[in-house]
Amino acid sequence: MTAAAEARDLFARIAGVEPAGTWSAPGRVNLIGEHTDYNDGFVLPFAIDRRTHVVAAPRSDRRIRVASTFAAEPVEVGIDDLDALFPSAGAPRVPEWAAYPLGVAWALQDAAAAPSGVDIAVASDVPIGAGLSSSAAIEGATAVALDDLWDLGSDRPTLARAGRRAENEAVGAPTGIMDQMAAMLGRPDAAIFLDCRSLRAEVVDLGFAAAGLEVVVMDTGVTHAHATGGYRDRREACERGARILGVPALRDLAPEDLDRARDLLDDVTFRRVRHVVTEDRRVLDTVRTLRSAGPTAIGPLLDASHASMRDDFEISVPELDTAVEAAREAGAIGARMTGGGFGGAAIALTPRERVGAVAEAVASAFSRSGFAAPRVFTVTASEGARRDS
Ligand code: ADP
Ligand code: MG
Repeated sequence: MTAAAEARDLFARIAGVEPAGTWSAPGRVNLIGEHTDYNDGFVLPFAIDRRTHVVAAPRSDRRIRVASTFAAEPVEVGIDDLDALFPSAGAPRVPEWAAYPLGVAWALQDAAAAPSGVDIAVASDVPIGAGLSSSAAIEGATAVALDDLWDLGSDRPTLARAGRRAENEAVGAPTGIMDQMAAMLGRPDAAIFLDCRSLRAEVVDLGFAAAGLEVVVMDTGVTHAHATGGYRDRREACERGARILGVPALRDLAPEDLDRARDLLDDVTFRRVRHVVTEDRRVLDTVRTLRSAGPTAIGPLLDASHASMRDDFEISVPELDTAVEAAREAGAIGARMTGGGFGGAAIALTPRERVGAVAEAVASAFSRSGFAAPRVFTVTASEGARRDS
């Protein structure tokens, strides 16, 4: 059964009424630009052909009920109780998954003249916790549904910000705005070039289809936890670097500033800063290269991005390095880990006829290393959040 059909089934079970509509939002892959978003920098994600579906209808009372195929029980709260629930600094009074859709409702309710209660059923085919941002997908699908049901008329960046606010303040995961913007603005065979400071977003054609290129995702199955340890630590290192170097954010540094940074910073902080500064430059170079030379020329930028995350930012793990190396040896033109790191997925830009070889090479490299079998599949750049019916 498709995720859309699962969502309709679940809705029929929890609500005794006809749905008012169905909405969906995609997960995303970040082509390049990692850990640059919270440094006010540049990212280049694209929405993927894996989506989270929401089936919903208004209620006559002021209660919000959310149900997901991932959870045994629906969760129900009054709209008037949302302000007491969130922000829930580390002490959630709803199951964590429900804080995503309820957090979006909380973030959007102020914009509504008279928010009605609503029944929401959720089902998804975005892999969870694989670095493909199932979180932004559930936020985005909920946001477009509520935008319609509450007649908000919000623009896409506003809905993206509501998703981010849910994730930061209702769930408590300190993420940037990239995932939500990608889920909102995605276009077929195109990426979203996003300036995370101004939130100016530009659609950049990828041209993968015409060039016969596929993006292979290699999900290591190693789970990451954004809300904890490593991610927070990297953010702090970036903030420290910017403070010591006297800039509002690392975005304000150019590669030419790195000599001075090396003098002023301890080695670890310097390498964290160097990753962000060079990664910003690689995003700009990737956009320029896509437009001038086309997608087959961006491989070395992807490779350099991975090396920087592995050596300078130190957020890769052996499984990711193995996947990236095996994919390249089997014919990928460039490969890198994607997402927050410490596990999750890597991507390999691969000529269509080499996809099978890449999948096999990654699987056998994992088996040789004694790693659990990876999930390997292709994704296609697709449309952002939308109403489906
Ligand atoms: P990622 O975004 O990389 O998949 P996150 O940890 O950021 O990983 O978000 C995953 C969490 O989002 C899940 O653990 C769950 O709480 C929530 N979530 C995502 N999709 C769904 C869904 N379809 N139903 C319920 N909760 C979901
Ligand atoms: Mg996420």
